[in-house]
Amino acid sequence: MGTTSTRISSQRNLRIASYVPGHAPVHMVKMTLRKCIYCLAEKDSNQFNKEHVLNNAFGKYDNTPTLNCVCIQCNDFFGCGIDRQLARGTFEGLLRYSEMIRKPPPRSVDDAKRFVDDVNRMIDGLRLAYPGSEGVLVALGMMPTGEIKVVPVPQVGFRMEGQKHWTSLPLLEVMDMNADELSPHDEVMYYVETKDQLDALKRKLCVGGRSLPPLQELPILPPTDSTLLDVEWTVNDEVRRGVAKIALNYAAFKEGADFVLDSRFDELRNYVRFGRPPSPPLVSTSVRPPDRSKTSNGHYIKLEMQKRDSCVAAHVSLFNTLTYRVVLVKNYGLYRPLAHGTYYDPQARSVTELTSIDRRLWLPPSITYTL
Ligand SMILES: [Zn+2]
Repeated sequence: MGTTSTRISSQRNLRIASYVPGHAPVHMVKMTLRKCIYCLAEKDSNQFNKEHVLNNAFGKYDNTPTLNCVCIQCNDFFGCGIDRQLARGTFEGLLRYSEMIRKPPPRSVDDAKRFVDDVNRMIDGLRLAYPGSEGVLVALGMMPTGEIKVVPVPQVGFRMEGQKHWTSLPLLEVMDMNADELSPHDEVMYYVETKDQLDALKRKLCVGGRSLPPLQELPILPPTDSTLLDVEWTVNDEVRRGVAKIALNYAAFKEGADFVLDSRFDELRNYVRFGRPPSPPLVSTSVRPPDRSKTSNGHYIKLEMQKRDSCVAAHVSLFNTLTYRVVLVKNYGLYRPLAHGTYYDPQARSVTELTSIDRRLWLPPSITYTL
């Protein structure tokens, strides 16, 4: 029986790397270079990750604006530094606790502990309103369940002769005071955690053979949801840089990375990334919130170019408390119409564009105001 053979011809793409004897296989990889808007380094696109225009410590949003023009190295640098300071070392950072963190889903115990430690380290002082005093010194504390509470710190309250108000000092500070600064005529209230602390305080107050002044225990009332808390913090360079970064991110998001890669933004960029102080300062603070009716307590970002001097400036307000003004470029040189505003609502998890009724007022579209 004869055999036949059939030649089969087929064409297909073979995924085989070309091989030249004596050389390594040659793979063609498409390189896409991108420039980071902070360090200005040109890197492959896989060296960039997602950067949130507003640090996601300030809420999670369904349509949150993000960038892909900040390199991983810069992103990591910010996350451990200025982003953290802004999110934990400020009044706005503390508001995250009351506005968001206490609400479900609960955070892990480790997260809560880090938050408590950071706040106690970065905030200058927390005081609970207390009748007849400048306030009781408190700090954040954590329950074994991870629940965060306001707890009193060991302290000594003094009321000088003839004075109406009490002033509290941390126990540690009193123990370091010179005995001459303590008057035997002052009334003294104390809050201590151990008998040893109380004994040490008594020895301190009796120094020099003086008799113990009238001493009473400070009755600490448990705080309620309506208890007022005074927060003292410092708007330092790290906080300013954190806010300036939000402004520069926002400009890149609204106008594109090329807009902010221009050398006119270098002074602000170098301040944010490398801490080089600008002269005069580019970030200023106002105690006036954008929405003075306090109807909306989310975050506002606004960017505009001023017609008279082509200054590119942003306003940033977190939780509608302080308003920071950030000068991105003092004089752009050429006026172009530039006006954007965005409102982040952490409760509704929404991000909405703001409309301008007039040049001074930027409001979420859903809120009606009587002017
Ligand atoms: Zn970078």
